[in-house]
Amino acid sequence: MSMEAVVYKGPKEVAIESVDEPELEHPNDVLIDITTSAICGSDLHMYEGRTAAEPGIVFGHENMGIVTDVGEGVTTLEEGDRVVAPFNVACGFCTNCENGYTGFCTTVNPGFAGGAYGYVAMGPYTGGQAERLRIPYADFNALQLPPGDEHEDAFALLADIFPTGWHGTELANLRPGESIAIFGAGPVGLMAAYSAKIKGAAEIYSVDRVPSRLSLAEEYCDATPINFEEGDPVEQIRDAHGGEVDKGVDAVGYQAIDPETDPGSDAYDPARENPAIVLNQLIQVVRPTGQLGIPGLYVPSDPGAPDEMAAQGRLGIDFGKLFEKGQRLGTGQCNVKQYNARLRDLIIEGRADPSFVVSQRVDLEEAPQMYQAFDKREAGVTKVLLEP
Ligand SMILES: [Zn+2]
Ligand SMILES: [Zn+2]
Repeated sequence: MSMEAVVYKGPKEVAIESVDEPELEHPNDVLIDITTSAICGSDLHMYEGRTAAEPGIVFGHENMGIVTDVGEGVTTLEEGDRVVAPFNVACGFCTNCENGYTGFCTTVNPGFAGGAYGYVAMGPYTGGQAERLRIPYADFNALQLPPGDEHEDAFALLADIFPTGWHGTELANLRPGESIAIFGAGPVGLMAAYSAKIKGAAEIYSVDRVPSRLSLAEEYCDATPINFEEGDPVEQIRDAHGGEVDKGVDAVGYQAIDPETDPGSDAYDPARENPAIVLNQLIQVVRPTGQLGIPGLYVPSDPGAPDEMAAQGRLGIDFGKLFEKGQRLGTGQCNVKQYNARLRDLIIEGRADPSFVVSQRVDLEEAPQMYQAFDKREAGVTKVLLEP
């Protein structure tokens, strides 16, 4: 049996192709019919050829759908259940999983800590930008949702970006009444700003260069927009706040744009990148003994890096300044299971609705055009959901 899926063909190219349908491979697996999968900013790193991803990989780590097949060892799920899967594939019983660090499961991707669907180096798990998906260790990995189709957009964001944005504020140990600067107003940055609002931050500064994204941060997250193309964001925040902020989040990662470089004709020219710039801006703008949360992606190997050091994931971080200020930082991908059930309940009870970040819901077939538009950070393309 075959199905349609989004297949990586090479830098800046994906195609809809027929691939083998997933099958139950282990008694703890379930299969789902995908109802929604999402394109993620982290898919763009692969799409742009900025990772070791080989052509042929089926993308898609943000997946939800309806259970169709249940392995005989599965005890909590039945055919017809509506579920969303964390992007992390995790076993539930290794030391890291037992401690809640399901993003660093040592069972599911031997030789590495952490597994995910449809992602380079994250194990053999086929992505869900397709018609169907296999969920391993399904009792542990599938989060149950209320039946029906209510909150479909919001629930789809529980696979990654809502928990990941929340995680950024957790890594920064944000407490009610504190001020926070969030670099990046892409989907994860917006979710971090939204999480900061839910957690009762006194002031939220959202830093980006795309006006439509900054408007969302202002409108839905009560954030003060800071456009870094209009001047040094550190100075802008210090001026607006009257000094350094308590906490900071990096929702940009290694493909950060250096505002000191010339925009030229192509605003997204990799030559404008400086992979350490956001970290250094955070070190400057966060107060002494403040904390930095870094959910933005950094990689140990970047084939398209601006220089040789960065190609090996080595960055020019102002560590002396960090030490002088006694700051702490937290890094790493989100352990989605630490948060997703509680965030789901906030959605069900009407206390959170992260779906404001969704800009398009389109047929799976339109994925290639949507990758192109999202990659160009076209205005109005913030978060794209795919429907098979
Ligand atoms: Zn994602
Ligand atoms: Zn594990």
